[in-house]
Amino acid sequence: MSDQQIVVIGAGIIGLTTARVLQQAGHRVQIISAELPLNTTSVAAAAFWYPSDSEPKEDVLRWGLKTHQTFKELKEEGVAGITFERALEVHPDPTWHPWWLNVVANPRKADLAELPPPVAGGSGYWFDTLVIDTTVMLKWLMEQFSAAGGAFVQQKLNNITEIASQTEIIVNCSGVGARDLVGDSELYATRGQTLRIRRKPEHRAVWEMSTKPLVTHIIPREADTVIGGVFQEHNYSRVVDPLDTEGILQRCRNLQPTLGTLNESDILSVSVGLRPTRARLRLESEKLLSGSTVIHNYGHGSCGWSLSWGCAEAVREQVQGMLPL
Ligand SMILES: Cc1cc2nc3c(=O)[nH]c(=O)nc-3n(C[C@H](O)[C@H](O)[C@H](O)COP(=O)(O)OP(=O)(O)OC[C@H]3O[C@@H](n4cnc5c(N)ncnc54)[C@H](O)[C@@H]3O)c2cc1C
Repeated sequence: MSDQQIVVIGAGIIGLTTARVLQQAGHRVQIISAELPLNTTSVAAAAFWYPSDSEPKEDVLRWGLKTHQTFKELKEEGVAGITFERALEVHPDPTWHPWWLNVVANPRKADLAELPPPVAGGSGYWFDTLVIDTTVMLKWLMEQFSAAGGAFVQQKLNNITEIASQTEIIVNCSGVGARDLVGDSELYATRGQTLRIRRKPEHRAVWEMSTKPLVTHIIPREADTVIGGVFQEHNYSRVVDPLDTEGILQRCRNLQPTLGTLNESDILSVSVGLRPTRARLRLESEKLLSGSTVIHNYGHGSCGWSLSWGCAEAVREQVQGMLPL
């Protein structure tokens, strides 16, 4: 094991999976994070596996498939919070043809009779996916990280150079926080809001309608159901908006008739998250004047959960060779 400690900034899904993969490769890792895992954007996510069309395309596709494989293996090992589901993505446009049909498992065009009222006469595709209970998974990752000797410091950094003297390798997994932390003006927030509701046993599949800025999704999990959402670009507010809550309930009732009686009394909690949005996900190294190297791993937009393990593996490959084990 190397004496040199790697510092990972951030304790969302990107920081935690990166820290775990580096530990598994034999490195000592410290996480510095302004927030605890259960207060991050990552906990507010839906979160189901979905192919990302972010850039760089080929890498993103590979990272997505690696992530799918890793969650599947964890599920097979008995790790809690992961379920296999069928997903139906619908669109009002009858000619809609998703680019990802040859990427997902078991795709099938939905029959017209299967389409809900808001997209009657439109189009829809079924595919196999994985749903992650974000609270369960973030807690589990944090426990695994600590059990493997990982150190956690809760601290907000104003500039990445603050810790440059502590380590030769910093991994920047600060999500939308990277906008200020490293002055990245290409990165911005896309606000989302989700409601955790009492589990609806009659509803057994992921439903999604991505007609932005009003995305609508219904995600059954082991213990509850997550519904959403909104897609508000350049909105940095982390405050719950009651109008968004009302709109989400209304749209989900319309989208899925089996939720017909859904109302405020079904709500268990409401969360807000800021998707770290960037035309091109940033996964690259940068040399600081101090001599330390920063590996940036942020800007995963709507697909951080779907890309997490693959990107963590890409970071490990970059670290390999920089530090002796
Ligand atoms: C409503 C909603 C639904 C979503 N659904 C899905 C889905 O179904 N599937 C999917 O794959 N993805 C989904 N996403 C996207 C996914 O949640 C994000 O891409 C992912 O959470 C980003 O993770 P992250 O770790 O980069 O960021 P975060 O979770 O935001 O974590 C960033 C971390 O960095 C720390 N940090 C930031 N700045 C500093 C600083 N200056 N100093 C120290 N620490 C700092 C924070 O405290 C935090 O710990 C959804 C997002 C939302 C909001």
